[in-house]
Amino acid sequence: MPRPIQATIHTAALRHNLATARLAAPDAQVWAVVKANAYGHGIERAFEGLRGADGFALLDLNEAERVRALGWRGPILLLEGVFEPRDLELCSRLNLWHTVHCDEQIDMLAQHKTQEPHRIFLKMNSGMNRLGFSPQRFRSAWTRLNALPQVDEISLMTHFSDADGPKGIAQQMARFEEATRDLPGERSVCNSAATLRHAHAASVKADWVRPGIAVYGSAPDFPEHSAAHWGLRPAMSLNAKIIATQSLAVGDSVGYGSAFVANKAMRVGIVACGYADGYPRLCPTGTPVLVEGARSRTLGRVSMDMLVVDLTDLPQAGMGSGVTLWGQSAQGTVLSIDEVAQAAGTVGYELMCALAQRVPVMVED
Ligand SMILES: *Cc1c(COP(=O)(O)O)cnc(C)c1O
Repeated sequence: MPRPIQATIHTAALRHNLATARLAAPDAQVWAVVKANAYGHGIERAFEGLRGADGFALLDLNEAERVRALGWRGPILLLEGVFEPRDLELCSRLNLWHTVHCDEQIDMLAQHKTQEPHRIFLKMNSGMNRLGFSPQRFRSAWTRLNALPQVDEISLMTHFSDADGPKGIAQQMARFEEATRDLPGERSVCNSAATLRHAHAASVKADWVRPGIAVYGSAPDFPEHSAAHWGLRPAMSLNAKIIATQSLAVGDSVGYGSAFVANKAMRVGIVACGYADGYPRLCPTGTPVLVEGARSRTLGRVSMDMLVVDLTDLPQAGMGSGVTLWGQSAQGTVLSIDEVAQAAGTVGYELMCALAQRVPVMVED
């Protein structure tokens, strides 16, 4: 029997979350962001649930090849554009749309030989200060690109740094609008947080939005809002089983470093999941888990292959009981990945992206 741990990708949840993002920006086309192997879900596994998107946005050329290999003929956007000149050959061959964020990428395009001109998303640095042309330099970049025979339509894009927080997007949106006012072309703004929180505002003109995390069922602005608040459902569940139980007397400890010490008689379950499966070692005692669908908590340190859960108030639970580390339990209850991430001091993104290779993954509707 294989080790009792399994991840499940929920196709219906992906479909539902994509529809939820669409509702938040009803006038926009939607890129499903599938970078980082669809945020750890697996591009091939997530594809069925996301094929209703208007396009797929990603970073790696090999991921673009995988999306084309699935038979997708619609738009694919390289969010960071090309990294070296020969990447443009693949863009021509696979008809990839690509971001242009720096002069060097324009130089590469100017040298590129292609039959078909490329669709470009020209990126403005409106305040994030990672990629893009400054508002002052944006127009000259546009003019230079527009004069190239290698370039077809040019769309305009920017990325918000604070869509999930109190600062919001107003200042960056205003800079973007101001610097692009009389330029033609479609606009692409809004990650998940901006899509859910701001896309309805009249000041936000988006022809294309780019939700990632929301599509996978995690709230971009947790803990201010939960996934349930936004009507999002987990697209990934991580479930394992109890492979042993122990009884603790007052003063007994559990696991490495004796990090948890019982102050009463307790019963604990040993779960076949550890940090080598992608469960964060930083999760402290008290991190929520579901045991047979009911909420409980972890105890002591997470080790490589095992962690410990409290069964004291769950007398029916024992060997073979199902434990949900995040996502949906067999009983239908849900533990949001955001709660587990918070316990580890991180975000749902990092946990889903870090699901380990050794965990078997099943796809269900
Ligand atoms: C990753 C990414 C997104 C999606 O962000 P989420 O917070 O996951 O919605 C959107 N746009 C760009 C440019 C990105 O790199």
